[in-house]
Amino acid sequence: MLPGRKAVTMRTARILAQGDELTTGATVDTNSAWVAEQLRLRGVRVLGLCAAPDDVELLARMLVEASRDCDLLVSGGGLGPTTDDVTAEAAARAAGAPLVESPEALAQVRDRFARMGRPMSPSNAKQALIPQGAQVLENPAGTAPGFALPLGTARAFFFPGVPQELRTMVERHLVPWLEAGGAAPLLRRRFHVCGLGESLVQERLADVLPPPGVRLGYKTWLPYNTVLVYGEAEPAEARERFETTCAAVRARLGDDRLGEDDETLPGVVGRLLLDRGWTLATAESCTAGGAAALATETPGSSAWFRGGVVAYDNDVKRSLLDVPAALLEAHGAVSEECARAMAEGVRRAVGADVGVSITGIAGPDGGTPGKPVGLVCFGLALPDVTRTRTTRFPPFGRERVRAMAAAAALEWLRRLLVRA
Ligand code: AMP
Ligand code: MG
Repeated sequence: MLPGRKAVTMRTARILAQGDELTTGATVDTNSAWVAEQLRLRGVRVLGLCAAPDDVELLARMLVEASRDCDLLVSGGGLGPTTDDVTAEAAARAAGAPLVESPEALAQVRDRFARMGRPMSPSNAKQALIPQGAQVLENPAGTAPGFALPLGTARAFFFPGVPQELRTMVERHLVPWLEAGGAAPLLRRRFHVCGLGESLVQERLADVLPPPGVRLGYKTWLPYNTVLVYGEAEPAEARERFETTCAAVRARLGDDRLGEDDETLPGVVGRLLLDRGWTLATAESCTAGGAAALATETPGSSAWFRGGVVAYDNDVKRSLLDVPAALLEAHGAVSEECARAMAEGVRRAVGADVGVSITGIAGPDGGTPGKPVGLVCFGLALPDVTRTRTTRFPPFGRERVRAMAAAAALEWLRRLLVRA
């Protein structure tokens, strides 16, 4: 039995990240976000996240404050060998216990250096100083052991800040402790759409009324919008209510649902192309390879992605893609006529079954009243037919227009493939 473990359901937590790099904005606190998600998935309600500078006094006060009203406190950072790492001392002050050298922690630090074949410097011995009575938590991914102790109403866990070390230690020490405490795991399913605004997605789901214990959430993560469904895994009826809600969300999203959970747009497009034994080529002007890069993000893309041409200049559109000079003269490079010729041209040039093209005005300059910034023309040359379309993306910056256009090209292809 671990000290401080109680056979109660863990319900609330606070997360405290440490380091001047966080409070000055030099480093983004990704640890707390990750820990929050892990806790949430295990049925723990996170009451707050905060960050503290490397200041013993302040940190000790914040630890006392954060452990007044929750069952669990998770702290990350400040366990290193340097003098700016002050978490152990602050924890000792908060707990009203002296800081002592733990023989167990010292043995772990020594052992770690021995296994790395490196000499241990005297400053590393500092990593064995922990509040008296605290439980030492082994760190399989680094030199600094963590520790756990009761603080206020909470069990407080202290982990190092290096993200990989923190994650390894949460999985090794915190998760088993939570599970032993009987926290009911939470179910989560993610439904991804692309090219449909958040508010439209929400409207589409207006009549999906989640039953008790099931919750809907929304997340925008360009170029995707994601609907999250959370539910309880136990008892069986709760799981059933979760699955029923998921089925309703799936039905409402229809073909707009590009995938679920870890599925990605390029992964799904690749699978659909492989089903037909088709290959893909890209011809890009304003995105300059963005669609090709997106397509090949997924492992195994060499089975269906043949290659692409970045045809930024009109000369390249003519020479490599056979876009007729007269067509460019008559309609301009940002036109469905040009997109059609680019898609067909790259399909031939690369020897692919499908050619997709993108030509548009990413901005911030180059827009005209007839062809404003954000206007993008797409072409899709399939074995039997070529289609074109034009989309006007909101002019929210060059990078965003380019990223949305690259994704929109693949999403259009996906829709055609699922409907065909
Ligand atoms: P520390 O354990 O405080 O010495 O942190 C070691 C390193 O881990 C820091 O220099 C940061 O690069 C990184 N780090 C610390 N805290 C965080 C955090 N909350 N989120 C992301 N990276 C972090
Ligand atoms: Mg630090």
